[in-house]
Amino acid sequence: MTVLVAGGGIGGLAAAVGLARAGQHVTVLEAAAAFEEIGAGIQVGPNGFRMLDSLGVGPAVRARAVHVDEGRLRCGVSGRLVAALPFDSDFQARFGTYAVVHRNDVLAPLLAACLADERVDLRVDSAVAAYEQDGSGVTAVLRSGDVVRGAALVGADGLRSAVRRQLVGDGEPPVSGHTTFRAVIPAENVPQSLKENVVTLWAGPRYHVVWYVIAGGRYVNLVATVDNGATEPMTGKPVEHAEVLRHFSPLCDDATQVMALAAEWRAWVLCDRPPITTWQDSRVVLLGDAAHPVLQYAAQGACQALEDAVCLSSAYDSRDVAGSLARYVALRSERTARVHHVSRLMGREVYHPAGEAAAARDAMFASWTVADLHERLEWLYG
Ligand SMILES: Cc1cc2nc3c(=O)[nH]c(=O)nc-3n(C[C@H](O)[C@H](O)[C@H](O)COP(=O)(O)OP(=O)(O)OC[C@H]3O[C@@H](n4cnc5c(N)ncnc54)[C@H](O)[C@@H]3O)c2cc1C
Repeated sequence: MTVLVAGGGIGGLAAAVGLARAGQHVTVLEAAAAFEEIGAGIQVGPNGFRMLDSLGVGPAVRARAVHVDEGRLRCGVSGRLVAALPFDSDFQARFGTYAVVHRNDVLAPLLAACLADERVDLRVDSAVAAYEQDGSGVTAVLRSGDVVRGAALVGADGLRSAVRRQLVGDGEPPVSGHTTFRAVIPAENVPQSLKENVVTLWAGPRYHVVWYVIAGGRYVNLVATVDNGATEPMTGKPVEHAEVLRHFSPLCDDATQVMALAAEWRAWVLCDRPPITTWQDSRVVLLGDAAHPVLQYAAQGACQALEDAVCLSSAYDSRDVAGSLARYVALRSERTARVHHVSRLMGREVYHPAGEAAAARDAMFASWTVADLHERLEWLYG
């Protein structure tokens, strides 16, 4: 019987590719009318690229990615360089590729791999509302009322997962109090003086601004986040330029110039969930943001979804569905909890501190060499 995957985002399609390569038949049930990602960028660390390689799509994603020279942390107020991590030959020899991509540059190769594999059945307009299971299989109940039967159900249906709602029952994700504003800027609008092949992060008191080039150099991805105590969820709401700017002050000249380039902004109030270990209900299991949504501060949400997908695919055993899903959860829960913890810590201690706390951060980075940074990244990228 087929493995059902609810959700065709990066995590769901990666799981479909991995399971199919391991010999399983897979049916992907996607709520939306098409398989596509919103027009924004993500950073993909070496651990993410190793997973893409293992799924056979690493070369296609590398070909679409922008291979940045360095990651830079700057003071948001003065613009001063606080720390730099070169993605040079030493970094690559130790960890592998670090690159930035448009989200579709990851999704499209995964989609192409699904389409090329006759074991994968892709269905759109198929929102999963609930599931039922017995000793021989699981039934996904769609919002339309249709049912689809399989041997297992993987809930890869994102932050507001319907599968999680039934499996864990922990309600809506709590809002973090942080608001993220995103804009995508045509690269031709960026003055030459600001063009650098790096990921730059300006960290200021209770805010940070990240920007980098995506989509083969055609666009610049701009993400500005503020710890403003937001209490209501918000998902992609269009916002006025002046409304965005009022959160980011004082801001150094370069960052101000970059922010001024954005024509259209959208806002999200960020959510995560405290780590749990109960991702499984017999033949049903969670993956990616449905299992462990994290703040984006370690740039790892999609990378962890890819790790989940590869791990699930290698653990899955059709002769022992529940046992093999339990092995997958055991392999993934501690690592993803650590990523959750580190993501929050980075927001608090590295990206948003002010005054003495910011000075302590700067002193800490000043005392580290690049080799020290590599040591500290080994658990994540190594
Ligand atoms: C501002 C920001 C920046 C980020 N930057 C990075 C970064 O630099 N690096 C990184 O690795 N990660 C980053 N992330 C995190 C990353 O985007 C997510 O972790 C990743 O997209 C999760 O993938 P997923 O497949 O689990 O979920 P999603 O991408 O949310 O996909 C879920 C899919 O399920 C579908 N769906 C929803 N409900 C149902 C249903 N009931 N039935 C069927 N289908 C359903 C949805 O339509 C969607 O296609 C960032 C996130 C944010 C918010």
